[in-house]
Amino acid sequence: MKRRDFLTASAVAGVATVCGAPRAAADQAGGGNGMPKLTPPEKPAELNLCLQWGAIPGGEIKEKLDFLEANGFTAVEIPSGDWPIKNCDAMIEAMKGRKLFLATACGPSDFSYAEPEKREAEVQKFLPVLEALGKMKSVGLIICPARGKLSEPGRLSAKELRKDFVENTGKRLAEHAHKHGTSIVLEPLRRNETPFLRQVADGARIAADIGPGATVMGDFWHMGLEETSFMGAFICGGKLLTHVHIAGLKERIIPGVHRDADNYVDGFKGLKLIGYRGAVSFEGGWPKNPEDPKKGLPQEEKIRLIRNMATMLREQWAMA
Ligand code: MG
Repeated sequence: MKRRDFLTASAVAGVATVCGAPRAAADQAGGGNGMPKLTPPEKPAELNLCLQWGAIPGGEIKEKLDFLEANGFTAVEIPSGDWPIKNCDAMIEAMKGRKLFLATACGPSDFSYAEPEKREAEVQKFLPVLEALGKMKSVGLIICPARGKLSEPGRLSAKELRKDFVENTGKRLAEHAHKHGTSIVLEPLRRNETPFLRQVADGARIAADIGPGATVMGDFWHMGLEETSFMGAFICGGKLLTHVHIAGLKERIIPGVHRDADNYVDGFKGLKLIGYRGAVSFEGGWPKNPEDPKKGLPQEEKIRLIRNMATMLREQWAMA
C-alpha cells in the first residue's frame, strides 16, 4: 500500500469507524445470533516489520537502512525532537528507491501544563517537526499528551486537558500535520506513566473528536497491562490505527527472548481484521549481557536477536 493511501484512509475514517461501527454494520447486515460480524477490510492486512532508529545496527543513515532492507524490514522509525528537521534532506535522499516506508517519529511531548504559555511552546516546537515529517512522507509524529501525575500543581486536570487537547493543542497540531500530508499519532501508555490516555479505544475516540490529521497507535507493552484483549483493542482503533509498537510481554526487551510469554497472535488477529498495513515497530531494551551486565550486548548478539524476533513475528502473523 502506498503511504498516501494509508494516511488518507486513516484520516478520513473519522467518528464512524470507532468501536461501535463494526457492530452497527454487522447488525444491518444481519450478523445472526446477535453476534457482531465485522466487515472484511478492503485490502488485506500486511506485516511491516520496523525498528526504532537506536536499535538499528550501523552508524550512518545509509548503513542502517541497508540493514533493514537486507533483513526484510519494510519500515523505519526515527527520533522526534529536532532530528527530523536536521536530517530531513539526508533521509529523503537515503530513502530513494528503497522498499521501506518512513513510519513515525518518536520522542517526548507534554500538553498538560496549566500555564498556557508552556502548552503553546510545546505546540510551536512541534509545528516545524510536522513540516519536516510531511516532507519526508512519514506516517506521523507520536504524541503522548501527558505524563506523570495530573494531580500535581501546575498541571491541568484530566477533564481540562482532554478539552484543551481536542480543541486547542492537539487540534492545531493535527490540522498542521494534515496540511503537510502527515498526522499526529496518539500513544496510550501504562497507568504508572500517565493518568490520561491508557487505552487504544480512548485514543481512537480522542483522535476522532479532533478530526483529520489525528490518529492512534497501540503499544503491545502498555496494552499488556491496560487492555483486556489485544484483538479487541486493535479493532477499536480501526482505520484510525496507524502505528504499532512491540516489545516482550514479560520484560520490555526484544521479543523472542522469553518465547513462552511473547505471544502476539491474538493482537495480530485484530490487526488482520482491520486490514492494518502500518508498521509493527520494536520499542524496548535488550537482555543483559551474561558476561558483564554493565557492558551491554555485543552487536553480533543484537543482530541475532533482531533476526530471531523477525522470524518469530512472521510465524505468529501467519498463525493469526
Ligand atoms: Mg511505545
